[in-house]
Amino acid sequence: MIEREQIEMDVVFVGAGPANLAGALWLKKKISEHDEYVERGIKPGNKIGEIEIGIVEKGSFVGAHILSGAVMDPIAIRELMPDFLEQGCPVDSVVTEDAFWYLTSKRGIDAPIVPPPLKNKGKYILSLSKMCEWLGEKCEEAGINIFPEFPASEVLYDENDRVIGIRTGDKGIDKEGHRKDNFEPGVDLLAKVTVLGEGSRGSLAKQLVSRLGLMEGKESQVFSIGVKELWEVPEGNFDQGKVVHTLGFPSDTQTYGGGWIYGMKDNVISIGYVTGLDYKDPNIDPHAEFQKFKTHPKVAEVLKGGKMIKYGAKTINAGGYWTMPKLYADGVLLVGDTGSFLNGQRIKGIHTAMKSGMLAAETIVDALAHDDTSTHHLRHFEEKVNLSWIYDELHPVRNFHASFQSGRWSALINSGLQFLTKGLAWGFLPKEHHIAGHERMEHQANGSGAMLPNDHLKLDRYKKVPFDKTLTFDKITDVYHAGVGHDEDQPSHLHVLDTEICATRCAEEYGNPCQRFCPASVYEMEERNGRRELKVNFSNCVHCKTCDISDPYQIINWVTPEGGGGPNYKGM
Ligand code: SF4
Repeated sequence: MIEREQIEMDVVFVGAGPANLAGALWLKKKISEHDEYVERGIKPGNKIGEIEIGIVEKGSFVGAHILSGAVMDPIAIRELMPDFLEQGCPVDSVVTEDAFWYLTSKRGIDAPIVPPPLKNKGKYILSLSKMCEWLGEKCEEAGINIFPEFPASEVLYDENDRVIGIRTGDKGIDKEGHRKDNFEPGVDLLAKVTVLGEGSRGSLAKQLVSRLGLMEGKESQVFSIGVKELWEVPEGNFDQGKVVHTLGFPSDTQTYGGGWIYGMKDNVISIGYVTGLDYKDPNIDPHAEFQKFKTHPKVAEVLKGGKMIKYGAKTINAGGYWTMPKLYADGVLLVGDTGSFLNGQRIKGIHTAMKSGMLAAETIVDALAHDDTSTHHLRHFEEKVNLSWIYDELHPVRNFHASFQSGRWSALINSGLQFLTKGLAWGFLPKEHHIAGHERMEHQANGSGAMLPNDHLKLDRYKKVPFDKTLTFDKITDVYHAGVGHDEDQPSHLHVLDTEICATRCAEEYGNPCQRFCPASVYEMEERNGRRELKVNFSNCVHCKTCDISDPYQIINWVTPEGGGGPNYKGM
């Protein structure tokens, strides 16, 4: 039995992303407003007073694991901090020009009209990692406790299933599971309210949703993966402030996908490709899709003479309004991507994430003032969401991603109709909306069966991608540019619950797609002693969560590794 320190806090936020950082700052502000109004007799009730607020973060610093395109709609940060620019918010560039390219395999058409949801003029291109680092500093200035290198490993419940806090992971366990000399047990952070803002497919949210049935009556969550590189390009290749979104090549019409190119200062560009993780063909490799995207003549022209400087990959929760879990339970709230707040049509979620955190904070103020953090007060979070501009923005696009599950052409017609009717037209949709991605993956054609790690790169789909380490890169080279580090002498944080399935059914039915959907070469089937076995190179993991989402048998469970491990997305 391990003796653990218990730290009593009032509110614990899990994950230092935009939702929780904005939420924690807003909580501080709203508590002081509340207390002032009570003191002046403007508001009835009790003062709350000083409370302990903590943010736990698995990365080595705030921003280390934060990755996004990113173009930010400033609507939420303006509410949080009207003078955010004067206060030094590290925006990179203002968007000055929008473009939309439709790409065929050889040609690129510059659309005469940019679809309205993709118009970004006046919004901000930024590194979300830098922005979160800055918000973290603001939180610390406001007296909020930030605990980097503290991965939350489990949710703590009382005997009535009320959430009472979280446990952080133990440090100093070797790969066999034995304690090392530097062993330190994780601590129990007890809180009246726990806010889960872990990003998409949060490992604690997964436990919580399953235990408390928070997806009952909801549509399945669907995800996409964004694979991104930062490049330095020669002056004149691409203008600062220009934002391009693309459709078409290299995705097939049954696979959701699209690219982006954002012009930042100092001739740096953010370039990336999003692939829907509800594709049918098990041979699809989202990293290779991105590499192929860069070989398109119109895209390659932008990169000509340039140099790749950083790499990253991350999933986003793409389903939107219908796929939101119940956002509250006794003692707990779900915000940001964890709560499925992203607007898939605009490919934007920073503003909705921040606003969700701020509405969670307002709900908490009310609950603390009444000394009741049960669902009786926390349920008001969903009401606040539905009365806010989040609802106005997400409800009209509630069918957007589902329409792509019927293929690109019906989706485009549907999206246009939905845009005109605020989401009402969905005649082309399948009967069931939002089917979970792992349920849509089809068996290998002809039962071609077992494949080794790079076999798929010889298939027609990828055979022309040169992987020349100039324009296109293999996964290992890219992973090096993600700055990934994990202590190798620790248990793997990727729990494959039944490796026999990998060697038998999965090899025959899908050809082990984990080798392809992982953007970091973590999973490899190897021939050993005459049989195939799964090798897990967990130290490469960039924490994107694709494997937890896309494994067709749902036998991969991603748990938090030792604190501080993972990618280093500083400046990404
Ligand atoms: Fe992403 Fe899983 Fe690969 Fe890690 S192991 S990089 S979480 S797919």
